Amino acid sequence: MQHSVSIRDLSLNFGNVKVLEHLNLDIAQGEFIVLLGPSGCGKSTLLNCIAGLLDVSGGQIFISGKNVTWEEPKDRGIGMVFQSYALYPQMTVERNLSFGLRVAGMPKAEIEQRVKRAAEILQIEPLLQRKPANLSGGQRQRVAIGRALVRDVDVFLFDEPLSNLDAKLRSDLRVEIKRLHQRLKNTMIYVTHDQIEALTLADRIAIMKNGVIQQLADPHTIYNKPVNLYVAGFIGSPS
Ligand code: ADP
Ligand code: MG
Repeated sequence: MQHSVSIRDLSLNFGNVKVLEHLNLDIAQGEFIVLLGPSGCGKSTLLNCIAGLLDVSGGQIFISGKNVTWEEPKDRGIGMVFQSYALYPQMTVERNLSFGLRVAGMPKAEIEQRVKRAAEILQIEPLLQRKPANLSGGQRQRVAIGRALVRDVDVFLFDEPLSNLDAKLRSDLRVEIKRLHQRLKNTMIYVTHDQIEALTLADRIAIMKNGVIQQLADPHTIYNKPVNLYVAGFIGSPS
């Protein structure tokens, strides 16, 4: 079976510091994988390698069977949503959603159709003519998700997309991300340090410590059969 994402023997050093070491991970088409671990364990670094925002020190990354290790981010078939919203402040929501497609030279009619669909899915249609400054945190994060959505990518990467939001919004958007996944059935790799998010969203959770995956399993197994004290302590402690 061809995996959606395959990470082979991936290493990444910052200078002399080894952040990821010989990491392997196979993700099936349509799977929702959560990378869970404490701050500094290498979650964002791993995601940035997959996205092509960092050059790897060793190993390979395959997306949909293709070796993308040295491909440009835009050629990898991925969309990324960050913790900070990274919207263009001077552009309307509609422009924020369509900008990348315009740059890529997509026909106008198709751009309009894609923006409309994304806005409908994320329930941001009434916000299309507003600018980011006039949106709430939750609305901004929906727009950020929308920007990945319009590109119709195979793989979504999320880096702690909800951690800047208050508890109520966080749980609302968590439900929406789950719904989005059920509707799109694409592959999602979702970074968090929040065990509740991990347990509710994931098909499988990868628990990370110091750049190494300690356990990779479904939430039930992680919760009931942690492989070591680290995993047990991390999943059992309040977030
Ligand atoms: P996480 O996302 O799990 O909090 P990161 O992937 O951001 O962790 O960081 C992993 C480790 O790499 C940390 O020790 C961090 O300090 C270090 N690190 C991250 N980015 C850089 C960088 N650009 N230069 C040097 N060290 C970095
Ligand atoms: Mg991080």
